[in-house]
Amino acid sequence: MGVGEAPDPPALEMTAEPAPLVRVRQWTAAALADLDEDHLEAVLLVSTELLTNAYEHGATPYGIRLRRSRMPCRVRVEVDDASPEQPVVGRSRLGETRGRGLVLVDQLSTAWGTNPLPGTGKTVWAEVSCERDGYTRCASRP
Ligand SMILES: [Zn+2]
Repeated sequence: MGVGEAPDPPALEMTAEPAPLVRVRQWTAAALADLDEDHLEAVLLVSTELLTNAYEHGATPYGIRLRRSRMPCRVRVEVDDASPEQPVVGRSRLGETRGRGLVLVDQLSTAWGTNPLPGTGKTVWAEVSCERDGYTRCASRP
C-alpha cells in the first residue's frame, strides 16, 4: 500500500484447496465483529453459499473480500473464481439440489450479481443490509 492510499477492504486470499469454510467463517466474524448477530449471520450464510456454489460448479474460488458500509449498514461480499460460467438461481446441470444456495443468497441480499474479471474469471458479489424487514438493525443496539 502506497502513501495516501485508502486501506484495502478486508480480503482473504484463499490458497488452501478446498478452502476451509470454517476458516472463512472465523475470518468473516472477526472482520465484522461489530455487526449485530442477525446481520453477521446473514453475511456468513451468503459468504458460505457463494463459495459453495463456486465449488459446485467447478470454479474454485480464490479470493473473498468484504466491503463494509455503515450508512446504510451494509456488507458487500465479493468472491472471485476462475470460471466464466454465470451462476443461475435454482438451476444447475449437476443436479436439482445444486443452485439452491443462490436462492438463499437472493433472499438474504438486497442485490447480487457478477462482474467479469480480466481473463476468464468473474467476481460474484452480494450486498447484505440489516436495514430491511426481518432483521434486527445493528444501529438499534443499546
Ligand atoms: Zn447491520
